[in-house]
Amino acid sequence: MTIQLFNTLTGRIEELSPSDGKALRMYACGPTVYDYGHIGNFRTFLQVDVLRRFLKLEGITPKHVMNITDVDDKIIRNAAAAGVSISEYTQKYEKAFFEDLNALAVEKPEIIARATEHIPSMVALIEKLAAQDCAYKTEDGSWYFRIAKFPDYGKLSKKDFSGITDGARVDVDEYDKDSARDFALWKAPKPGERKWETALGPGRPGWHIECSAMATEYLGDSFDLHAGGEDLMFPHHENEIAQSESASHKTFAHHWFHVRFLLVEGRKMSKSEGNFYTLRDLLLKGHKASAIRMLLISVPYRQQLNFTFDGLAAETGAVERLRTFHERVRGVVPAPQENAELAAETAKSRESFHAALANDLNTAEARAAIFDLVRAGNAAIDAGTVGRENAAAMLAVLDDFDQVFAVLEDRDAEWTRAALDWAEREGRLGEASAEVVAQSALSDDQIQELVDERTQAKRARNFARADQIRNELAEKGILLEDSKDGVRWKRK
Ligand code: AMP
Ligand code: ZN
Repeated sequence: MTIQLFNTLTGRIEELSPSDGKALRMYACGPTVYDYGHIGNFRTFLQVDVLRRFLKLEGITPKHVMNITDVDDKIIRNAAAAGVSISEYTQKYEKAFFEDLNALAVEKPEIIARATEHIPSMVALIEKLAAQDCAYKTEDGSWYFRIAKFPDYGKLSKKDFSGITDGARVDVDEYDKDSARDFALWKAPKPGERKWETALGPGRPGWHIECSAMATEYLGDSFDLHAGGEDLMFPHHENEIAQSESASHKTFAHHWFHVRFLLVEGRKMSKSEGNFYTLRDLLLKGHKASAIRMLLISVPYRQQLNFTFDGLAAETGAVERLRTFHERVRGVVPAPQENAELAAETAKSRESFHAALANDLNTAEARAAIFDLVRAGNAAIDAGTVGRENAAAMLAVLDDFDQVFAVLEDRDAEWTRAALDWAEREGRLGEASAEVVAQSALSDDQIQELVDERTQAKRARNFARADQIRNELAEKGILLEDSKDGVRWKRK
């Protein structure tokens, strides 16, 4: 099956395949590690994860590079305010970022590149640009890219910059979205700032050159796909193209993959609106990492996702339903005969699942195909008409599904626990909901002990004690289910 994907550069849906016949070389802009990641950031990283996981499912090996921006205006400002070095400052957030990716079951890219460890490639690229008069040095010792030398400027964002004023400059990383100005490649140091002594003079790299240099270092002058959130299209990605293509005279990235921004409860997420959430905020409030992953990926990457707490509750239920179904299929006692109708439903679901993802990564349709199977499968299990091959086929579809969606394995309690441990270390336990704190007060072993004690109490006809234990556990969000095979418990 060929993978069709929208390409921002051409404005069309096009086939995506490794141009070197080996690996799909892709670069995704990574985080600026100056704070904890928010759910908008993670929506983008998760959609890139869906893409790479689907490539693998289709037998394509990704060679995926992600940068860590560990020096920029904000980092320098925040580190100075905290009175620590920039590396000390960024290490903390970089570590937190990878912990969060882990909790969200995001696979690690093959290559992770820190900007501060790639200064020589950035310097070499700027020198190459300078040799072609595409870069110039200003009086203060900074270097700028000369936009007037790149007539294709604007080709990605489709902005018309025909009236470019030669020499108009900007030195901040984020600037006016409607104007084209020469941007900083290398910034002369301000007093007290971290600086590198290089052939360009002392200073530090601009943000855009980082990505051009690191992408080229690992993937070559030309590679298959470049990804990021939609906000990066201009100026960041436009600038990457201008720098890289001016230096190499080759097409930088063939495919450009942009993830639409997320809204929260219908509005732009912002601290001042009070609708700004990091992953940790949500875990501390008792939301499950798997449900957050499911919600952030279930709306296709080119559609606007409106994150709501109702939506999150619905996804918690959806994940639960999938896990229960998975358990049921695994434990099914096979009927003597195969069920032809179910076999057809299963094959259809598998086909629709793959076709949906191959069609511009339509996660909503892929997910719907799986829930069709859950419905048909549950009905057949209830009727006792699932044959051995039926069960194996359903498990195979669930396996494909989970290679991309990655929600079946239940590690939710572990991630909540980790968030609580972090909150405790940071003196932020007050942000956790009372229920989460109460639940976490009990380890799995302690819960099992209480459950066993209750069973003993019931056997001894001490119903008062048995009820007392049930209530105590319920208060801590632990639910008990009596069944003929004993008592099962789960965290709410
Ligand atoms: P940053 O750490 O700010 O450089 O952002 C990391 C990634 O998250 C980039 O690809 C951004 O485009 C993306 N991003 C930031 N905010 C949002 C949002 N609200 N929705 C989706 N992606 C976002
Ligand atoms: Zn970038």
